[in-house]
Amino acid sequence: MKIDTRLAQRLLKINPSSTLAITSKAKKLKSSGKDIVNFAAGEPDFDTPDFIKEAAIAAIQSGFTKYTPTTGTADLKKLICQKFKKDNLLEYSPEQVIVSCGAKHSVYNALMVLAGLGDEVLIPLPYWVSYPEMANLCQATPVFIETSAKNNFKITAKDLSRCITPRTKVLILNSPSNPAGSVYNKEELGAIAEVCVKKNIFVISDEIYEKIIFDGLKHESIAAFGKDIYNLTITVNGLSKSHAMTGWRIGYLGAPADIAAAISNLQDHSTSNPNSIAQKAAEAALSAPDDFSLKLRQEFTRRRDYLASRIKKIKELDFCLPQGAFYMFCDISKTRLDSLTFATRLLEEEYVSLIPGKPFGLDNYIRISFATSVEEIQKGMDRIEKWIKKI
Ligand code: PMP
Ligand code: GLU
Repeated sequence: MKIDTRLAQRLLKINPSSTLAITSKAKKLKSSGKDIVNFAAGEPDFDTPDFIKEAAIAAIQSGFTKYTPTTGTADLKKLICQKFKKDNLLEYSPEQVIVSCGAKHSVYNALMVLAGLGDEVLIPLPYWVSYPEMANLCQATPVFIETSAKNNFKITAKDLSRCITPRTKVLILNSPSNPAGSVYNKEELGAIAEVCVKKNIFVISDEIYEKIIFDGLKHESIAAFGKDIYNLTITVNGLSKSHAMTGWRIGYLGAPADIAAAISNLQDHSTSNPNSIAQKAAEAALSAPDDFSLKLRQEFTRRRDYLASRIKKIKELDFCLPQGAFYMFCDISKTRLDSLTFATRLLEEEYVSLIPGKPFGLDNYIRISFATSVEEIQKGMDRIEKWIKKI
Protein backbone atom coordinates (compact mmCIF):
# COMPACT_ATOMS: atom_id res chain seq x y z
CA MET A 1 0.00 0.00 0.00
CA LYS A 2 2.77 2.34 1.04
CA ILE A 3 4.71 1.48 -2.13
CA ASP A 4 1.67 2.27 -4.26
CA THR A 5 1.61 5.82 -3.06
CA ARG A 6 5.35 6.43 -3.11
CA LEU A 7 6.24 5.05 -6.54
CA ALA A 8 4.88 5.83 -9.97
CA GLN A 9 2.46 3.23 -11.31
CA ARG A 10 4.82 2.12 -14.10
CA LEU A 11 7.47 1.03 -11.59
CA LEU A 12 5.23 -1.32 -9.65
CA LYS A 13 5.65 -4.27 -12.00
CA ILE A 14 9.41 -3.99 -12.46
CA ASN A 15 11.74 -6.62 -11.01
CA PRO A 16 15.48 -6.20 -10.50
CA SER A 17 17.70 -7.79 -13.19
CA SER A 18 18.47 -11.30 -12.00
CA THR A 19 21.38 -11.63 -14.42
CA LEU A 20 23.06 -8.58 -12.94
CA ALA A 21 22.15 -9.55 -9.36
CA ILE A 22 23.45 -13.12 -9.56
CA THR A 23 26.58 -12.09 -11.47
CA SER A 24 27.46 -9.55 -8.83
CA LYS A 25 26.67 -11.98 -5.99
CA ALA A 26 29.07 -14.51 -7.57
CA LYS A 27 31.78 -11.86 -7.94
CA LYS A 28 31.31 -10.81 -4.31
CA LEU A 29 31.55 -14.39 -3.01
CA LYS A 30 34.68 -14.93 -5.08
CA SER A 31 36.35 -11.79 -3.77
CA SER A 32 35.53 -12.83 -0.21
CA GLY A 33 37.76 -15.85 -0.77
CA LYS A 34 35.17 -18.53 -1.66
CA ASP A 35 36.24 -20.92 -4.41
CA ILE A 36 33.34 -20.01 -6.69
CA VAL A 37 33.05 -21.30 -10.24
CA ASN A 38 31.27 -18.52 -12.07
CA PHE A 39 28.93 -19.77 -14.80
CA ALA A 40 26.72 -16.70 -14.34
CA ALA A 41 28.78 -14.12 -16.20
CA GLY A 42 27.06 -12.21 -18.97
CA GLU A 43 30.28 -10.66 -20.23
CA PRO A 44 33.46 -11.87 -21.93
CA ASP A 45 36.16 -12.71 -19.38
CA PHE A 46 38.84 -11.21 -21.66
CA ASP A 47 40.33 -7.84 -20.79
CA THR A 48 39.67 -4.87 -23.08
CA PRO A 49 42.56 -4.80 -25.61
CA ASP A 50 45.42 -2.45 -24.66
CA PHE A 51 45.19 -0.27 -27.78
CA ILE A 52 41.62 0.61 -26.79
CA LYS A 53 42.63 1.47 -23.23
CA GLU A 54 45.48 3.61 -24.57
CA ALA A 55 43.05 5.60 -26.73
CA ALA A 56 41.01 6.34 -23.61
CA ILE A 57 44.09 7.42 -21.66
CA ALA A 58 45.09 9.70 -24.53
CA ALA A 59 41.56 11.16 -24.55
CA ILE A 60 41.82 12.05 -20.87
CA GLN A 61 45.28 13.50 -21.27
CA SER A 62 44.25 15.66 -24.21
CA GLY A 63 41.27 17.03 -22.27
CA PHE A 64 38.56 15.23 -24.24
CA THR A 65 36.47 15.38 -21.11
CA LYS A 66 33.57 17.65 -22.00
CA TYR A 67 30.08 17.12 -23.42
CA THR A 68 29.99 15.75 -26.93
CA PRO A 69 26.97 15.97 -29.25
CA THR A 70 24.13 14.02 -27.62
CA THR A 71 24.10 11.26 -30.21
CA GLY A 72 27.88 10.76 -30.28
CA THR A 73 30.94 12.33 -31.89
CA ALA A 74 30.97 12.82 -35.65
CA ASP A 75 34.06 10.59 -35.93
CA LEU A 76 32.53 7.71 -33.99
CA LYS A 77 29.25 7.91 -35.90
CA LYS A 78 31.16 7.86 -39.18
CA LEU A 79 32.95 4.68 -38.08
CA ILE A 80 29.65 3.11 -37.03
CA CYS A 81 28.15 3.89 -40.45
CA GLN A 82 31.15 2.19 -42.06
CA LYS A 83 30.76 -0.82 -39.76
CA PHE A 84 27.06 -1.16 -40.61
CA LYS A 85 27.90 -1.01 -44.31
CA LYS A 86 30.79 -3.46 -44.17
CA ASP A 87 29.39 -6.06 -41.78
CA ASN A 88 25.64 -5.73 -42.26
CA LEU A 89 25.17 -4.30 -45.77
CA LEU A 90 23.21 -1.47 -44.17
CA GLU A 91 23.36 2.14 -45.34
CA TYR A 92 22.82 4.50 -42.44
CA SER A 93 23.79 8.17 -42.56
CA PRO A 94 25.28 9.70 -39.38
CA GLU A 95 21.91 11.35 -38.59
CA GLN A 96 20.39 7.88 -38.40
CA VAL A 97 22.93 6.65 -35.85
CA ILE A 98 22.60 7.19 -32.09
CA VAL A 99 25.38 6.24 -29.70
CA SER A 100 24.10 5.43 -26.22
CA CYS A 101 25.23 4.09 -22.84
CA GLY A 102 25.34 0.43 -23.89
CA ALA A 103 23.13 -1.63 -26.19
CA LYS A 104 20.73 -2.02 -23.26
CA HIS A 105 20.19 1.75 -23.37
CA SER A 106 19.78 1.61 -27.17
CA VAL A 107 17.05 -1.05 -26.91
CA TYR A 108 15.34 0.93 -24.16
CA ASN A 109 15.47 4.18 -26.18
CA ALA A 110 14.04 2.43 -29.22
CA LEU A 111 11.18 0.92 -27.20
CA MET A 112 10.50 4.23 -25.48
CA VAL A 113 9.92 6.06 -28.75
CA LEU A 114 7.91 3.23 -30.34
CA ALA A 115 5.71 1.66 -27.68
CA GLY A 116 3.36 3.07 -25.06
CA LEU A 117 0.14 2.44 -23.21
CA GLY A 118 -2.11 0.09 -25.17
CA ASP A 119 0.66 -1.20 -27.44
CA GLU A 120 1.81 -4.81 -27.47
CA VAL A 121 5.48 -5.73 -27.71
CA LEU A 122 6.17 -9.20 -29.10
CA ILE A 123 9.02 -11.05 -27.42
CA PRO A 124 10.16 -14.58 -28.36
CA LEU A 125 10.40 -16.82 -25.29
CA PRO A 126 12.95 -17.56 -23.82
CA TYR A 127 14.01 -13.91 -23.77
CA TRP A 128 16.75 -11.75 -22.36
CA VAL A 129 15.52 -10.68 -18.92
CA SER A 130 15.37 -6.97 -19.64
CA TYR A 131 13.02 -6.99 -22.65
CA PRO A 132 9.71 -7.54 -20.83
CA GLU A 133 10.69 -5.14 -18.07
CA MET A 134 11.56 -2.48 -20.63
CA ALA A 135 8.15 -2.95 -22.25
CA ASN A 136 6.59 -2.57 -18.79
CA LEU A 137 8.61 0.59 -18.19
CA CYS A 138 7.11 1.97 -21.42
CA GLN A 139 3.67 0.99 -20.06
CA ALA A 140 3.26 -1.26 -23.08
CA THR A 141 2.25 -4.93 -22.76
CA PRO A 142 4.85 -7.64 -23.34
CA VAL A 143 3.39 -10.57 -25.31
CA PHE A 144 5.47 -13.72 -25.50
CA ILE A 145 5.87 -15.91 -28.57
CA GLU A 146 6.40 -19.54 -27.59
CA THR A 147 9.25 -21.42 -29.24
CA SER A 148 10.52 -24.96 -28.91
CA ALA A 149 13.88 -26.59 -28.33
CA LYS A 150 13.21 -28.56 -31.53
CA ASN A 151 13.47 -25.34 -33.52
CA ASN A 152 16.45 -24.09 -31.49
CA PHE A 153 14.14 -21.69 -29.64
CA LYS A 154 13.51 -19.63 -32.77
CA ILE A 155 10.15 -18.22 -33.81
CA THR A 156 8.83 -18.89 -37.28
CA ALA A 157 6.86 -16.48 -39.45
CA LYS A 158 3.79 -18.59 -38.61
CA ASP A 159 4.35 -18.26 -34.85
CA LEU A 160 4.69 -14.53 -35.34
CA SER A 161 1.50 -14.22 -37.43
CA ARG A 162 -0.43 -16.11 -34.76
CA CYS A 163 0.51 -13.60 -32.06
CA ILE A 164 -0.21 -10.40 -33.98
CA THR A 165 -3.24 -8.36 -32.88
CA PRO A 166 -4.39 -4.87 -33.90
CA ARG A 167 -2.37 -3.61 -30.93
CA THR A 168 0.95 -5.17 -31.92
CA LYS A 169 3.49 -2.42 -32.39
CA VAL A 170 6.93 -3.96 -32.27
CA LEU A 171 8.79 -7.26 -32.29
CA ILE A 172 12.09 -7.66 -30.45
CA LEU A 173 14.46 -10.02 -32.22
CA ASN A 174 17.78 -11.16 -30.80
CA SER A 175 20.19 -13.14 -32.95
CA PRO A 176 22.52 -14.64 -31.84
CA SER A 177 20.34 -14.91 -28.77
CA ASN A 178 20.71 -14.75 -25.03
CA PRO A 179 20.01 -17.20 -23.35
CA ALA A 180 19.62 -19.93 -26.02
CA GLY A 181 22.39 -19.07 -28.50
CA SER A 182 19.94 -19.29 -31.41
CA VAL A 183 20.96 -17.83 -34.76
CA TYR A 184 18.35 -16.99 -37.42
CA ASN A 185 19.29 -17.78 -41.00
CA LYS A 186 18.46 -15.82 -44.14
CA GLU A 187 15.28 -17.75 -44.98
CA GLU A 188 13.89 -17.51 -41.45
CA LEU A 189 14.54 -13.78 -41.23
CA GLY A 190 13.20 -13.18 -44.73
CA ALA A 191 9.90 -14.82 -43.80
CA ILE A 192 9.67 -12.85 -40.54
CA ALA A 193 10.45 -9.61 -42.39
CA GLU A 194 7.65 -10.31 -44.84
CA VAL A 195 5.10 -10.64 -42.02
CA CYS A 196 6.32 -7.47 -40.31
CA VAL A 197 6.08 -5.48 -43.53
CA LYS A 198 2.63 -6.83 -44.31
CA LYS A 199 1.34 -6.03 -40.82
CA ASN A 200 3.36 -2.82 -40.39
CA ILE A 201 5.19 -3.98 -37.27
CA PHE A 202 8.45 -2.45 -36.13
CA VAL A 203 11.44 -4.63 -35.34
CA ILE A 204 14.08 -3.92 -32.73
CA SER A 205 16.91 -6.16 -33.86
CA ASP A 206 19.35 -6.68 -30.99
CA GLU A 207 22.57 -7.84 -32.65
CA ILE A 208 24.93 -7.42 -29.69
CA TYR A 209 26.29 -10.98 -30.06
CA GLU A 210 26.88 -10.61 -33.82
CA LYS A 211 30.59 -11.39 -33.58
CA ILE A 212 30.20 -14.44 -31.36
CA ILE A 213 28.86 -16.95 -33.85
CA PHE A 214 30.02 -20.52 -34.46
CA ASP A 215 30.36 -23.28 -37.04
CA GLY A 216 30.93 -20.89 -39.94
CA LEU A 217 27.40 -19.46 -39.68
CA LYS A 218 26.89 -15.98 -41.03
CA HIS A 219 25.15 -13.25 -39.06
CA GLU A 220 22.25 -11.65 -40.94
CA SER A 221 20.66 -8.26 -40.22
CA ILE A 222 16.92 -8.15 -40.85
CA ALA A 223 17.05 -4.48 -41.91
CA ALA A 224 19.08 -5.55 -44.96
CA PHE A 225 16.16 -7.54 -46.39
CA GLY A 226 14.72 -4.66 -48.44
CA LYS A 227 13.60 -1.06 -48.20
CA ASP A 228 10.27 -1.80 -46.51
CA ILE A 229 11.70 -3.74 -43.58
CA TYR A 230 14.62 -1.27 -43.34
CA ASN A 231 12.04 1.47 -42.75
CA LEU A 232 10.56 -0.52 -39.86
CA THR A 233 13.77 -1.72 -38.19
CA ILE A 234 16.00 -0.35 -35.47
CA THR A 235 19.32 -2.21 -35.58
CA VAL A 236 21.06 -2.32 -32.20
CA ASN A 237 24.66 -3.22 -31.55
CA GLY A 238 27.54 -2.23 -29.28
CA LEU A 239 31.08 -2.85 -28.14
CA SER A 240 30.39 -4.70 -24.88
CA LYS A 241 30.70 -8.20 -26.30
CA SER A 242 32.67 -7.66 -29.54
CA HIS A 243 35.53 -5.83 -27.79
CA ALA A 244 35.15 -6.97 -24.17
CA MET A 245 34.03 -3.46 -23.19
CA THR A 246 31.03 -4.08 -20.94
CA GLY A 247 32.07 -1.51 -18.34
CA TRP A 248 32.70 1.28 -20.85
CA ARG A 249 28.99 1.52 -21.73
CA ILE A 250 28.97 2.15 -25.45
CA GLY A 251 26.12 0.84 -27.58
CA TYR A 252 24.56 2.23 -30.72
CA LEU A 253 21.66 1.89 -33.09
CA GLY A 254 20.80 2.64 -36.69
CA ALA A 255 17.20 3.64 -37.41
CA PRO A 256 14.96 5.34 -39.98
CA ALA A 257 15.55 9.12 -39.77
CA ASP A 258 12.27 10.01 -37.99
CA ILE A 259 12.86 7.41 -35.28
CA ALA A 260 16.49 8.42 -34.85
CA ALA A 261 15.38 12.05 -34.45
CA ALA A 262 12.90 11.05 -31.73
CA ILE A 263 15.58 9.03 -29.92
CA SER A 264 17.96 11.98 -30.16
CA ASN A 265 15.35 14.18 -28.43
CA LEU A 266 14.79 11.52 -25.78
CA GLN A 267 18.51 11.25 -25.13
CA ASP A 268 18.87 15.08 -25.07
CA HIS A 269 16.57 15.17 -22.07
CA SER A 270 17.63 12.00 -20.29
CA THR A 271 21.32 11.03 -20.44
CA SER A 272 22.83 13.50 -22.99
CA ASN A 273 25.92 12.02 -24.65
CA PRO A 274 27.51 8.74 -23.63
CA ASN A 275 30.87 9.10 -21.85
CA SER A 276 33.30 11.14 -24.00
CA ILE A 277 36.36 9.07 -23.06
CA ALA A 278 34.61 5.77 -23.82
CA GLN A 279 33.60 7.19 -27.20
CA LYS A 280 37.29 7.78 -28.04
CA ALA A 281 38.00 4.21 -26.95
CA ALA A 282 35.18 3.01 -29.21
CA GLU A 283 36.65 4.96 -32.13
CA ALA A 284 39.93 3.10 -31.63
CA ALA A 285 38.10 -0.23 -31.42
CA LEU A 286 36.13 0.34 -34.62
CA SER A 287 39.13 1.70 -36.55
CA ALA A 288 41.23 -1.42 -35.95
CA PRO A 289 41.16 -4.65 -37.96
CA ASP A 290 38.68 -7.17 -36.59
CA ASP A 291 41.29 -9.54 -35.05
CA PHE A 292 39.83 -9.51 -31.56
CA SER A 293 36.47 -10.95 -32.52
CA LEU A 294 38.21 -13.76 -34.40
CA LYS A 295 40.04 -14.61 -31.18
CA LEU A 296 36.71 -14.49 -29.29
CA ARG A 297 35.05 -16.82 -31.77
CA GLN A 298 37.84 -19.36 -31.67
CA GLU A 299 38.11 -19.39 -27.90
CA PHE A 300 34.35 -19.53 -27.31
CA THR A 301 34.02 -22.38 -29.80
CA ARG A 302 36.66 -24.36 -27.90
CA ARG A 303 34.88 -23.74 -24.59
CA ARG A 304 31.42 -24.49 -25.99
CA ASP A 305 32.60 -27.79 -27.39
CA TYR A 306 34.27 -28.81 -24.15
CA LEU A 307 31.21 -27.82 -22.10
CA ALA A 308 28.92 -29.73 -24.49
CA SER A 309 31.10 -32.83 -24.22
CA ARG A 310 30.76 -32.70 -20.42
CA ILE A 311 27.00 -32.03 -20.32
CA LYS A 312 26.35 -34.85 -22.78
CA LYS A 313 27.61 -37.26 -20.11
CA ILE A 314 25.04 -36.08 -17.55
CA LYS A 315 21.79 -37.86 -18.27
CA GLU A 316 19.72 -35.45 -16.15
CA LEU A 317 20.63 -32.51 -18.41
CA ASP A 318 19.55 -31.86 -22.01
CA PHE A 319 20.65 -29.03 -24.25
CA CYS A 320 20.70 -27.63 -27.79
CA LEU A 321 24.17 -26.74 -29.01
CA PRO A 322 24.34 -22.92 -29.07
CA GLN A 323 25.13 -21.44 -32.47
CA GLY A 324 26.22 -18.11 -31.05
CA ALA A 325 26.73 -15.99 -27.88
CA PHE A 326 28.36 -17.68 -24.87
CA TYR A 327 25.58 -19.42 -23.04
CA MET A 328 24.38 -23.02 -22.85
CA PHE A 329 20.68 -23.23 -22.04
CA CYS A 330 20.07 -26.57 -20.34
CA ASP A 331 16.84 -28.42 -19.68
CA ILE A 332 16.78 -29.57 -16.04
CA SER A 333 13.30 -31.16 -16.12
CA LYS A 334 14.72 -34.60 -15.30
CA THR A 335 16.12 -33.34 -11.99
CA ARG A 336 12.57 -32.38 -10.94
CA LEU A 337 13.93 -29.17 -9.43
CA ASP A 338 12.67 -25.75 -10.43
CA SER A 339 15.34 -23.44 -11.75
CA LEU A 340 15.63 -21.22 -8.68
CA THR A 341 16.02 -24.19 -6.34
CA PHE A 342 18.57 -25.74 -8.71
CA ALA A 343 20.63 -22.54 -8.91
CA THR A 344 20.41 -21.75 -5.19
CA ARG A 345 21.31 -25.25 -4.04
CA LEU A 346 24.16 -25.54 -6.51
CA LEU A 347 25.63 -22.26 -5.30
CA GLU A 348 25.21 -23.06 -1.62
CA GLU A 349 26.26 -26.70 -1.77
CA GLU A 350 28.94 -26.70 -4.49
CA TYR A 351 29.89 -23.03 -4.99
CA VAL A 352 28.89 -23.01 -8.65
CA SER A 353 26.89 -19.97 -9.76
CA LEU A 354 24.64 -19.94 -12.80
CA ILE A 355 21.42 -18.19 -13.82
CA PRO A 356 18.05 -19.92 -13.33
CA GLY A 357 15.84 -20.09 -16.42
CA LYS A 358 12.82 -18.54 -14.73
CA PRO A 359 13.74 -14.90 -15.42
CA PHE A 360 14.23 -15.88 -19.09
CA GLY A 361 10.71 -17.34 -19.11
CA LEU A 362 11.48 -21.07 -18.67
CA ASP A 363 11.56 -22.45 -15.14
CA ASN A 364 12.77 -25.90 -16.23
CA TYR A 365 16.00 -24.50 -17.66
CA ILE A 366 19.26 -23.05 -16.40
CA ARG A 367 21.79 -20.86 -18.21
CA ILE A 368 25.46 -21.81 -18.04
CA SER A 369 27.79 -19.10 -19.26
CA PHE A 370 31.01 -20.31 -20.84
CA ALA A 371 32.66 -16.90 -20.60
CA THR A 372 35.25 -18.49 -18.36
CA SER A 373 38.35 -20.63 -18.92
CA VAL A 374 38.28 -24.32 -19.89
CA GLU A 375 39.94 -25.07 -16.53
CA GLU A 376 37.08 -23.38 -14.69
CA ILE A 377 34.52 -25.14 -16.90
CA GLN A 378 36.18 -28.44 -16.04
CA LYS A 379 36.11 -27.65 -12.32
CA GLY A 380 32.49 -26.48 -12.43
CA MET A 381 31.32 -29.49 -14.43
CA ASP A 382 33.13 -31.89 -12.06
CA ARG A 383 31.14 -30.34 -9.22
CA ILE A 384 27.81 -30.38 -11.09
CA GLU A 385 28.29 -34.00 -12.18
CA LYS A 386 28.98 -35.09 -8.61
CA TRP A 387 26.15 -32.99 -7.13
CA ILE A 388 23.48 -34.14 -9.60
CA LYS A 389 24.09 -37.73 -8.56
CA LYS A 390 23.26 -36.79 -4.97
CA ILE A 391 20.03 -34.84 -5.49
N1 PMP B 1 21.15 -7.45 -25.37
C1 PMP B 1 21.42 -8.67 -24.89
C2 PMP B 1 20.69 -9.82 -25.46
C3 PMP B 1 22.36 -8.85 -23.88
O1 PMP B 1 22.61 -10.07 -23.41
C4 PMP B 1 23.03 -7.73 -23.37
C5 PMP B 1 24.04 -7.98 -22.29
N2 PMP B 1 24.06 -7.15 -21.27
C6 PMP B 1 22.71 -6.46 -23.90
C7 PMP B 1 21.77 -6.36 -24.89
C8 PMP B 1 23.29 -5.19 -23.40
O2 PMP B 1 24.64 -5.02 -23.52
P1 PMP B 1 25.33 -3.66 -23.17
O3 PMP B 1 24.31 -2.74 -22.57
O4 PMP B 1 26.42 -3.98 -22.23
O5 PMP B 1 25.84 -3.11 -24.46
N1 GLU C 1 23.46 -9.50 -20.77
C1 GLU C 1 24.22 -10.08 -19.76
C2 GLU C 1 23.49 -11.28 -19.15
O1 GLU C 1 22.46 -11.66 -19.65
C3 GLU C 1 24.69 -9.07 -18.74
C4 GLU C 1 23.79 -8.73 -17.63
C5 GLU C 1 22.67 -7.84 -18.05
O2 GLU C 1 22.94 -6.74 -18.52
O3 GLU C 1 21.54 -8.29 -17.90
O4 GLU C 1 23.95 -11.86 -18.23
